[in-house]
Amino acid sequence: MAFAQLGLNPLVVKAVEASGYTEPTPVQVQAIPATLEGKDLLVSSQTGSGKTAAFMLPCLHRLDQPSALPGRGPRVLVLTPTRELAQQVTKAAETYGKFLKRLRIVAAVGGAPLHVQAKLLSQPVDVVVATPGRLIDHLERGRIDFSRLETLILDEADRMLDMGFIDDIEAIIARTPANRQTLLFSATLEGVVGRLAQRVTKDARRIEIMAAPAHKAKIEQRIHFADDFSHKSRLLDHLLRDVGLSQAVVFTSTKKSADDLAVQLRGEGFSAEALHGDMSQRDRNRTLQGLRLGRTRVLVATDVAARGLDVPGISHVINFDLPRQAEDYVHRIGRTGRAGREGIAISLAAHFEKRQIRDIERYTAQSIRVGVIPGLEPKARPQRPEGFGDKRRSSAPRPTGGYGKGNGNGYGSKGGYGDRKAAYGEKQSSFGEKSGYGHREGTRPGSEKRSTPAGAKRRAYGGY
Ligand code: AMP
Repeated sequence: MAFAQLGLNPLVVKAVEASGYTEPTPVQVQAIPATLEGKDLLVSSQTGSGKTAAFMLPCLHRLDQPSALPGRGPRVLVLTPTRELAQQVTKAAETYGKFLKRLRIVAAVGGAPLHVQAKLLSQPVDVVVATPGRLIDHLERGRIDFSRLETLILDEADRMLDMGFIDDIEAIIARTPANRQTLLFSATLEGVVGRLAQRVTKDARRIEIMAAPAHKAKIEQRIHFADDFSHKSRLLDHLLRDVGLSQAVVFTSTKKSADDLAVQLRGEGFSAEALHGDMSQRDRNRTLQGLRLGRTRVLVATDVAARGLDVPGISHVINFDLPRQAEDYVHRIGRTGRAGREGIAISLAAHFEKRQIRDIERYTAQSIRVGVIPGLEPKARPQRPEGFGDKRRSSAPRPTGGYGKGNGNGYGSKGGYGDRKAAYGEKQSSFGEKSGYGHREGTRPGSEKRSTPAGAKRRAYGGY
């Protein structure tokens, strides 16, 4: 199918084609006509599925016609969990709307001066892309008039709820016209997101992109087991010297370890910068600009900072620390393989982190190959740590090391992966020598049939 067949304004189609997209992705094929019809939508789709264009193109289509209502407030409001994603969405709106006349887009995100944004918002505006906290600041100062708002988009709604924005979101929605169109995009539509969706949408059409997106990135994934922190650092050093690596995002679990690792890598001669939520917006922008321009080769980031990052030059994602949630793994590796390119995602794991890996495999419905680098083979054989899954867990002997105890960066300080002790206990029997770690390909027997919370979640998400 061609974009022209979706009923979009030719100026919007022209801009999309100028971006190099030849055909709409599955989420675009379904969401664009439904949005043009005026339906409320609940869309579950993975990051990288083309969801931004799925909601932005039909909105831009409408913005080509003047509003029937008086006023100067936004006609489209997009709420996103992070500043970076808001900037990404703003950029997409500018790109896809570049042939429309007098299109005014304002990003209202934290970190930038309030008064500058307030001035922009006091002028006529078509699209506001905002993070909830900053938008509340503007609303409280009476800076935004929603009287002519046509469409509200909640982008990555699950993440906004995870980040505790529920009250802000409800307060914002209460200020918008009741006859608005609401489009909710989320990795999952279950649980707390589903309840929010029920409250804020009317007779919504549900679109679930269960299958992998058509232009799904080709990301080669593998794991390297590390004996200790020093071994992990040597593995990282080796991986970063790969000539095939153009740019990499290295994920750590804490802000401090991101800073420390960036310093360490610079000391080893890499052009490395840290990116995390404690940095000022100016520093974050500067770092991202350095990455986009290719001045920075290695970005050392935490999960929150890397959300929405879309830099085509990123050839590798390296999990220096495994993510706390299996879902975050999908977001992390989605930083590579952008814009139809191939990517490599490598996770460095301690031997006792097998359970987290299995959660990821179950969530993504893929097994991850275990790789070994000659000369850097792990000495220890992967094995289940003593006390894993029961009350002794916290006192189980763990290797230590890293930048400091308790910062989540060395081994053993933060288990993460939810409070699922029952699940740990329940699955103990399937752990062990023959149960799948170290396998190189194929699926683990029985893994599809197991009815576990993780399994259920994966089905709901449809894998990656
Ligand atoms: P998103 O899911 O919105 O983060 O988009 C993921 C990536 O897909 C972005 O790099 C987009 O520029 C790109 N993209 C969006 N629509 C298409 C399309 N129809 N064909 C190919 N790539 C696309």
